[in-house]
Amino acid sequence: MGRPEQELLGSSTVPFTHPDDLHTNREIGTLLAAALARGENAVQLEKRYVRPDGGVVWAWLTVTMTTGPQGQEWTLIHPQDITARKAAEEALRRSEADLAALNRIARRVQAGEDPRREIVGSARSVAGAAVAALCEPEDGAGVPVLRVTASTAAGAVGARLPLDPASPAADAYLSGRAVFVPDPSARPGPEWELLHPAHARSLLCRPLVAKGAASAVLLVGWSSPLAAVREEWERSLLLLADGAAAALQHARVVAELAASAVTDALTGLPNRRAWEERVPGLAAACARAGTPLTVAVLDVDRFKALNDSEGHLAGDRLLVRIAQVLRREVRAEDVVARWGGEEFALALPGCSAQEARVLLERVRLAVRPVRSCSVGFAVRRGAEPLEDVLGRADAALYAAKQAGRDVVLEAPAV
Ligand code: GH3
Ligand code: MG
Ligand code: MG
Repeated sequence: MGRPEQELLGSSTVPFTHPDDLHTNREIGTLLAAALARGENAVQLEKRYVRPDGGVVWAWLTVTMTTGPQGQEWTLIHPQDITARKAAEEALRRSEADLAALNRIARRVQAGEDPRREIVGSARSVAGAAVAALCEPEDGAGVPVLRVTASTAAGAVGARLPLDPASPAADAYLSGRAVFVPDPSARPGPEWELLHPAHARSLLCRPLVAKGAASAVLLVGWSSPLAAVREEWERSLLLLADGAAAALQHARVVAELAASAVTDALTGLPNRRAWEERVPGLAAACARAGTPLTVAVLDVDRFKALNDSEGHLAGDRLLVRIAQVLRREVRAEDVVARWGGEEFALALPGCSAQEARVLLERVRLAVRPVRSCSVGFAVRRGAEPLEDVLGRADAALYAAKQAGRDVVLEAPAV
């Protein structure tokens, strides 16, 4: 117990007993009485003592009733120090919990599911923390930022953190090193605002490193201020970060593959497969809302001649330009796809024939300086099958070609 004999002699053990184990002092009597009733004279139990330096000692007590030389009732207590065993048990329990967490993340990956929620959930639990969040660099944005892609705190997902090295998360991401902040005043940053609902008072930002570079940052917040991150939490988080980095890498590759399967490589527009996945839902929504659905097909005029005279690269450039024009002209809810070679298809929900004509004329004129194009379109009639609407738009396109090209034609009413 780390105390001199004089301090122990004549004293109750209450002053040295761990506050959470004071009940054992009261229970010994009850346990012994029960043992005696069974014809036994000893009981065993675990309890903790506190050393003068604050260290905790685990003891395994063997308590025996015995009779003294004058027939006195003596209680003999034999405490055995089992602190090392307890620490080993705890370490084993921790490493089992760590492995289980890694395993849960790996299983998500194997199932082709997003591992992000599992990563933050596991990080919070292995570190005994109040909150955990995952931040990933946002691609495609003009200014590089970190975006929260998963969090155990409600409402944090989608929030953006500037890549300013003054803020702890950005610092961890840019330097590739873990950054610990014992309390908000030590290092302010937008992270605190983000984790506020979870009352984070101490924060660890640990980069997830894959192939030598940080690919994301894990934020872990504790609701009580800590002087330092406990060594076992640090170890568990390090292990988790490695597994999470690999899982994230895998998830990104899977997402890229999934996107490329529905994206045309040349123009970046959705391809025919994406069209087939998205348009039926759009059509059903229009039918429910009682709004029109217009389908259009655009085809470049004499494209073969452009390829032949100026080369395929010039042809490719025109296709990319048309894609840009289409993206610029349509609304977010419209679907534009590269349908085939130099043909593009548009699905315009809530768009009447008049509105479609205005839009399609705008597109035709925007493309025209390079090459003229012809467009056919049709408004869906009631529950008409989508292939039929597309067929009528295609027939209108054919008619536009017949009529001399460079024109927008609506499918005739029959
Ligand atoms: P029309 O006015 O009747 O539509 O004539 P057109 O020459 O545009 O029609 P046609 O169908 O005869 O030719 C289409 C050409 O598009 C044939 C093919 O070589 C070319 N093409 C298809 N895909 C691509 C592509 O990805 N890049 C380029 N550069 N050309 C392509
Ligand atoms: Mg053509
Ligand atoms: Mg064609």
